[in-house]
Amino acid sequence: MLGALQNGGLDAAEAEPRCSRAACSADATTRLEWRNPRIHDEARRKVWLACGEHAGYLEDFLRQRDFPVTASALAAEATDHEDGRA
Ligand SMILES: [Zn+2]
Repeated sequence: MLGALQNGGLDAAEAEPRCSRAACSADATTRLEWRNPRIHDEARRKVWLACGEHAGYLEDFLRQRDFPVTASALAAEATDHEDGRA
C-alpha cells in the first residue's frame, strides 16, 4: 500500500513506519516517545515516528511545549505494536 494514511490522528499506529509529519510519507528513521504531563499519567507514552528531515522539527515541537521527549533510532523491525493482528 502507498502512504495514503490519514494524518489526522496522532497515534502513529500504522503498520508501516512512516513519518508522522503531516503531508510527509517518507520512511521513518527516528522514534519519538513523549507524553503530555497535563493529560497523560506517568506511564502513558505517545509515539511519533519521523524521517531524518522532520525528526528535529517534531522533537522541537514537543520540547517547546515542555513535553518529556525521548528520541531513539528506529530499527527496521522495531514495530512491535499490532504484532499479532488478525
Ligand atoms: Zn518527514
